Parts: sequence; C-alpha cells; structure tokens
Amino acid sequence: MSENVNPSVTTTDAGIPAPSDEFSLTVGPGGPVVLHDSYVVQKMQQFNRERVPERVVHAKGSGAHGYFEVTADVTWFTKANFLGEIGRRTEMFARFSTVAGEQGYPDTVRDPRGFALKFYTADGNFDMVGNNTPVFFMRDPSKFQDFIRSQKRLPDSGLRSNDMQWDYWTLSPESTHQVMILMSDRGTPRSLRTMNGYSSHTYSTINAAGERFWVKWHFKTEQGADNFADDEAKAMAAKDPDYHRRDLRDAIQSGNLPSWRLEMQVMPFADAAGYRFNPFDLTKIWPHEDYPPVTVGRMVLDRNPGNYFAEVEQSSFSPANMVPGIGLSPDKMLLGRVFSYHDTHLHRIGTNYQQLPINASKVPVHSYSKDGSMAYRHSGDQPVYAPNSYGGPQADPIAGADLTWWIDSGELGRYAYEAHAEDDDVTQPGTLYRDVMDDVARDHLIANIIGHASDGVSADVRRRVVEYWQAVDTDLGARIKVGLGVA
Ligand code: NDP
Repeated sequence: MSENVNPSVTTTDAGIPAPSDEFSLTVGPGGPVVLHDSYVVQKMQQFNRERVPERVVHAKGSGAHGYFEVTADVTWFTKANFLGEIGRRTEMFARFSTVAGEQGYPDTVRDPRGFALKFYTADGNFDMVGNNTPVFFMRDPSKFQDFIRSQKRLPDSGLRSNDMQWDYWTLSPESTHQVMILMSDRGTPRSLRTMNGYSSHTYSTINAAGERFWVKWHFKTEQGADNFADDEAKAMAAKDPDYHRRDLRDAIQSGNLPSWRLEMQVMPFADAAGYRFNPFDLTKIWPHEDYPPVTVGRMVLDRNPGNYFAEVEQSSFSPANMVPGIGLSPDKMLLGRVFSYHDTHLHRIGTNYQQLPINASKVPVHSYSKDGSMAYRHSGDQPVYAPNSYGGPQADPIAGADLTWWIDSGELGRYAYEAHAEDDDVTQPGTLYRDVMDDVARDHLIANIIGHASDGVSADVRRRVVEYWQAVDTDLGARIKVGLGVA
C-alpha cells in the first residue's frame, strides 16, 4: 500500500471533519443510536453499495498496465495509426479472467481465460476482447446465453454441474474443437503469463491505398506456453485460490515483466469466399500453413494497478471499440458481441462508464452524447446537437468509415452459414488430436475428459460423451468409452 498523502484528519465524503470511527451517537452510554448520526448512517449506506454487479461472465479478473510496441512494418495491410511505424509505442491495459467462476472462485480451475486488451491510441481506444483459445464453443450469438447458463450453476441447488456442461456440449457438436482445447492442459494454464491470447474472431483491415484484408490476432507468450496438469491445478486451487493474480502481480513487482509477441494471420480479401473452411466461423482456426503468422509487435506489462476496483473491476472492454484501419467481419458471434459488451457495461457500471479514467480515451472526446447518471465530462456551453452552426464537431465520413464486406442479396431469415467445401465440426479437432498433440498431451486430454465426465454425469449423457469424441477420432472415442465404462 502506498503512503497516505494527508493522513491527518478523517473526513466525511463531503470533506467535513469526521467525529469518530469508534463511537456512534447515542442517548446516554447505553441508549439507542440516533438516526441523525449521519456519519455512521452514511458509512453503512456506502458500505451497502460498495459492489457493482459482477460480470455475468469473466467475473474474476486480474489486470496490469503496459505498452505495445510495433516491431515490423505492417502498413501493407493496415493503416491503423498505432501500428503505423516501427518503434511506435501505445499505452495499454490488460485484464485476464476466468469465464464461468464468480469473483471468489479459484484461479486455476479448468476454464477458458479472457484476454482483454485496451490500447489507448491516438485515434481513440482500440479494445481486443480475446481469449486464450483460438476458437469458441459456437458460431451463432443466439446460443451464448444458453451455453453460459449450462456452465454456471443449477437453478435449484446453486451447484455447478458437469452433467449440465456435457449435456449442452454433446447436444452442440460445433463445440467439439473448443471443448478439446478446454479439456487439454491448455484449460489449466500455469500462469496468466504463460498463456497465449487470440482474437479468435476474424477481423478486417484496410491499408492506406484502400485494399482490404481479413486478419486473426495471436498474442504469443514470450514466457513460453506452460500449463498445469489437472492434479496440479486442483491442488493449487486449494492452496492459493488467487494464485494467478498473485503470480502476475509479483512478477511485475519484481521487474520480471511479462511480454507477448503479436503475430497476425493475413488473408487477402478475395480469398474468403472460396477458402476451404468458412474463415468467419469462430469454431475454426486458419491453418498456419495456409496463412503463416506475420510478426507485428510486442506487448509488455510493466505496472500493477494502484487500485483494484478502479482499474480492474471498473475496466470495461468492447469489441465495438475499433480504430480506423481495423474493422469487423461477417463472423456472427463478433457482430453479436459488438452489441452485447457496451450494453453490459451500461448495466454494470453505468451510463457514463467510458468517462472513468481506466476506460477514458487519452485523446479528447468530442461526442454529442450528453448528461446521464454521474456525468463528469460535459459539453459546457458547446452545441449539443448536430448539425449546428456554432462550431461543434463534425463527423468525418472518411476517417470514421466502416470497413464493409459483400452481402449476397437475400431474404431476411435465420440461416446457418453457407457451407464451404471442408466445413465440418470434427476435422480441426481431429488434426489437433492426431497431428499436434504428443502422447503425453493425448493421455492428459483423455484422463481429463474421463475425470470430468465421470463426476456427477448421468449415464445417458456419458453415452453421448463417447459418441461426441468418436465422431472426432475412433481411437479417442474408444479410449473414452473404456474410461467411462460405457457399454
Ligand atoms: P500447426 O502445426 O501449424 O499449429 C498447431 C498449433 O497448435 C501450434 O502452433 C500451437 O499454437 C497449437 N498447439 C500446440 N500444442 C497444443 C495443444 N496441446 N493444445 C492446443 N493447441 C496446441 O497446425 P495448424 O495451424 O494446421 O493447426 C492444427 C491444429 O492446431 C488446429 O486444428 C487447431 O486445433 C490447433 N491450433 C491451431 C492454431 C492456429 O491458429 N493455426 C492455434 C492454436 C491451435 P500456438 O502457437 O498458437 O500456441
């Protein structure tokens, strides 16, 4: 804790000297406490309101400040100013999190990890709200709420349930790729410092000449990827539930600064339509062989938060925050998230959450948004509508242009993605199992699945667990069948 700059006299929140933090105001030494002891009453009231609603997902987070530095010329595929010159540094903030657990939940439980980054660029804030996995459980945003409920708690007992998790997953085969990664040792990272971060989604970029590209972002740990085995993760959950938070903080405190190398896969715009996989399907990666990652820069975390609530809990990220040169893609999950994140922050922190120091742009904001609960930045006597003839700011259709893509003319409807030649839910997890994992990784994966699916999972769901993995690989399915004792 840093030294209090003026510890002399406690005051009320209105700055008036406070009477006592020991005795409330009473009628005689044993008498009732009186309501007009506003100091004590307001202490209670403030305490009762100390919490903001915890995030419905990614509730437990740990964060740090740092910078991003460009190390290669990437102007050939993006005009984004903060990526525009080798050596250019941008201040940033990172928040890592578990997904399903609540604020007090142990850090080392099996779960994907959030990997949210805020870049305070000269063009306003760019948020990369990624995960430590390159894919996700689904490809349509209408499924997210059901999925998350299946990963959280039962309505009657308030307990978590492996049965509910596998019931959902096995009824949703598109989840296979992500569940395989979750059930591998990557589901239990040793440290926040030893995991990669991925945009997972496909984004678009545009260069100064107006050429467009599709991109995926990969933040590769320079500490080396390292994970706990299942028993180590469970032991650590009991020993130190805040292990990851402590590890990150201690490392930065001791000058052992964690860093990640940003690599991007870049696909020419015209390749997407005929690519063998749907390149916008969030359950799929782009094989490195097809689109080799190019190095872009390096992110270094070098400063711990000075106040957890102000910097980590109130930090709010949104995929809607993109800067000129970077845009969306027809990934339906991404399009859903662009709405959802801002909305949840309006509920969780409040209308003007973007005015808080951790969320505020470092460059001046000239917005016509005004007033609202707890407004701090305001328009003064400046015009509050556009257009106006009193010198107010004007939107810039060139600088602020949306990156667009083709839309086939079609009828409004509820569609699956149009199939590409090799779209399916099992090829990529099959490649991961057969070609990427070694024997140890395969053994751990299988033991982790068997352990998880044996714990409180009904016979019917266990049978479906076997079928789910049989579809990916016969050897994998056979070993799980034996392990789960399914006839
Ligand atoms: P590559 O052999 O070029 O890449 C495989 C990648 O898999 C590695 O670079 C590493 O990604 C990641 N990896 C290594 N060990 C594990 C593990 N135990 N669990 C999960 N991921 C691991 O092959 P492809 O690019 O053709 O991809 C093959 C498969 O690898 C994919 O189907 C996918 O399941 C998985 N994968 C692919 C990624 C990609 O973006 N191409 C990213 C991550 C996984 P990293 O260097 O990012 O750690």
